[in-house]
Amino acid sequence: MGWPGKKFANPLILGIFADDFAFLSQNYEYMSLLVVGTVAFDSIETPFGKAERIIGGSGTFISLAASYFAPSVNLVAVVGEDFPPEKIEMFKAHGIQTEGLQIKEGENSFFWAGKYHLDLNTRDTLATELNVLADFDPVIPASYQNADFLLLGNLVPKIQQTVIERLQQRPKLIMMDTMNFWISSALDELRAVLKMVDLLSVNDEEARQLTGEYSLVKAAKAILKMGPRYVIIKKGEHGAMLFYEDQIFYAPALPLEDVFDPTGAGDTFAGGFMGYLAQSGDISFENMKRAIIYGSALASFCVEKFGTEALEYLLPSTIENRVSEFVDLVQFEIQLD
Ligand code: AMP
Repeated sequence: MGWPGKKFANPLILGIFADDFAFLSQNYEYMSLLVVGTVAFDSIETPFGKAERIIGGSGTFISLAASYFAPSVNLVAVVGEDFPPEKIEMFKAHGIQTEGLQIKEGENSFFWAGKYHLDLNTRDTLATELNVLADFDPVIPASYQNADFLLLGNLVPKIQQTVIERLQQRPKLIMMDTMNFWISSALDELRAVLKMVDLLSVNDEEARQLTGEYSLVKAAKAILKMGPRYVIIKKGEHGAMLFYEDQIFYAPALPLEDVFDPTGAGDTFAGGFMGYLAQSGDISFENMKRAIIYGSALASFCVEKFGTEALEYLLPSTIENRVSEFVDLVQFEIQLD
């Protein structure tokens, strides 16, 4: 398992540990990650508490997670004038570029409300208010063009497609996430984007809904026929599986004593995964396995607090320690004759 070197790119951290990060100016590959997704308000209820109108959204979790690795994170999203300016400042403090974040005067931000069941692996959506998202036209600033990596967070499939079409140059890797809401309400549009991406990440329930296959291996094979070359199936507290051709890699989730709020875990996983790839610039299957561990490590922090709280202040050493817990968790030796 290769460490990411000491290449954590978060400027909050860089500010604190400036001396430790002096090497960055010397040998730093400048790989940019373009992120598109929702930046939203969430109201969340879990067996452990409630949070009203805290910030969330796929673009939020992805960008924050990726900011710990990717040298440059460029966000394209839309919010209403109700979105707190200090949270936009928080994005900037993480080195996230917000030139592509549109603020619509007189309109409200996307709002989602969900309630988790006792096992925390399943949830009911109580409300989805598209608001500004309903007529979102994703403008890609010139400074975001030529992105090396593109992560299409969970969003209206048509908008995901528009973003790909508006790029002057195809990124090295396009990853896409989606959810049951879009599989039910915009399947044809979703299938059209699937043909244009390299990697789809969905949870087990969504993989089954999309393909009609109960077996996740069959579901993954069916998705591979829909367009993407890689599929990641997330299984909540049971980890994640990466499928590529006839190979499968499985990474567990870290068994945690306390899980407070799983919201955003999938997006955080995706942000950590693509952030790690962007940092290393290597999209081999072997490196994707490492990226899955980094994505899983970041997701494990996300679920320990409500909303984005845990993701706002992480230190390189905290992340490294968590990754090493993953290594210990799955390391064993067997001598086969
Ligand atoms: P996750 O728990 O990783 O599935 O992501 C939860 C986040 O997705 C929440 O912060 C929501 O704001 C956001 N979200 C919920 N529904 C949708 C939707 N239909 N499209 C885009 N983002 C959504």
